[in-house]
Amino acid sequence: MSGITDLSLEKLAVGIRKREFSSVEVLQHYLKAIDEKEDDLNAFITVFAKEALGRAKNVDSSKSKNGKLAGVPIAVKDNISTRGLRTTAGSKIIEEYIPQYDATVVSKLLNGGAIILGKTNMDEFAMGSSTENSAYGPTRNPHDLERVPGGSSGGSAAAVAAGFAPAALGTDTGGSIKQPAAFCGVVGLRPTYGAVSRYGVIALTSSLDQVGTLGRTVTDARYLFDVISGKDRYDATSVERTPTKLVGIKNLRVGLPKEYFGKGLDKKISLRIEKVAEFLEGLGAQVEEISLPHTQYGIAVYYIITPSEVSANLARFDGIRYGYQTRAKDIEELYLKSRGTGFGEEPKRRIILGTFALSSGYTDQFYLKAAKMRTLVSQDFEKAFAKVDVVLTPTTPTTAFKIGEKKDPLSMYLSDIFTIPANLAGLPGLSVPVGEIGGLPVGAQLIGPKFSEELLFSVGELLEKEKWS
Ligand code: GLN
Repeated sequence: MSGITDLSLEKLAVGIRKREFSSVEVLQHYLKAIDEKEDDLNAFITVFAKEALGRAKNVDSSKSKNGKLAGVPIAVKDNISTRGLRTTAGSKIIEEYIPQYDATVVSKLLNGGAIILGKTNMDEFAMGSSTENSAYGPTRNPHDLERVPGGSSGGSAAAVAAGFAPAALGTDTGGSIKQPAAFCGVVGLRPTYGAVSRYGVIALTSSLDQVGTLGRTVTDARYLFDVISGKDRYDATSVERTPTKLVGIKNLRVGLPKEYFGKGLDKKISLRIEKVAEFLEGLGAQVEEISLPHTQYGIAVYYIITPSEVSANLARFDGIRYGYQTRAKDIEELYLKSRGTGFGEEPKRRIILGTFALSSGYTDQFYLKAAKMRTLVSQDFEKAFAKVDVVLTPTTPTTAFKIGEKKDPLSMYLSDIFTIPANLAGLPGLSVPVGEIGGLPVGAQLIGPKFSEELLFSVGELLEKEKWS
């Protein structure tokens, strides 16, 4: 059964439907891999072995196996609600939370016949770029156990890279799918804002959060995206996808933004991305340098907008309405102690920053200024897409860093320098592995106009066919 790991999601579903192998066999293959290596990696917060086996048996005994994912196990990030199954968002404050309902993306997986294998580890409330901020211990990178898998969807990326699951769902607010995908050598899609429902996803930054997919191949990331995307009446910001027309590679115009190739970028990554551009040129694409002049403000803008929304979104976890409650002598002490003990360092830091940025007298100075700058970042991309079809950049400035290496929060924030701007503009981004440097994976980021996922997949498929060393 070792060949199981090599099968695409579609082949797994077809094989199960044709009874070439059973859903139970597929599941056991993945459970065995988890059993063997999970102690080293800590990719999951919870594995639902019993529930998953029960469901796999049901699929095997049922006559109709028509769902796109009938009998196929999928891992889900732990900030996505699963009815009756613990959902912690990587935090102690909701350690015992058992959702009463499924997130829309989970309902869609289940309607497609998928089996939820478990909930993956993540930075607390998706705040972080290394999965070290999880209250359940860090996840390690399958390529080097001394290194981080990236974050905040580090558990999902590590699980796919380690062969614990054929594919996984993550969420990406500032880079949390693309960056860990790059660090772990898997494919990660952050869809256009609105392409996928956020209903039932524990909010970090509502105006930026988006559920996306991680797979071993572009084909799998696309297949899973087709299952979870679409308008949802429970999320007013979701819209029906209107895919942009495919452009033939011969006429494809690729933009390399000069602001992404400066200081702070590992020279070897820079050279690799230039090679990727040359490769596309060799296939007939036209590559040109472009400018996204407001790129340098991306991180600053993100770290005003995110904490501001965080301070509102996390207010509900107060020990009374939701979350961990401590003993206290009065109501004030109850709030202070419950939140003080329940939240880790990073959520506390952001709640304080966000409350400050939104406090009277400061809103104009911080939040409004950030909101205006966000518009300028979006306009940069609009102007660029008048000239090119797709923007090519490195996904990350470095390969995976060591666990414990980035102690200063600011240096951690800088790991998302290339993923944040497109997210601020609500654009889709795909990270595709383009080989390794020093034994560690490198990712190329493809950014396109809104709803251009199909185009990104097509270009991504070309990149993954090439051997990059
Ligand atoms: N690393 C970024 C942050 O800490 C992005 C996180 C995310 O996309 N969820 O906010």
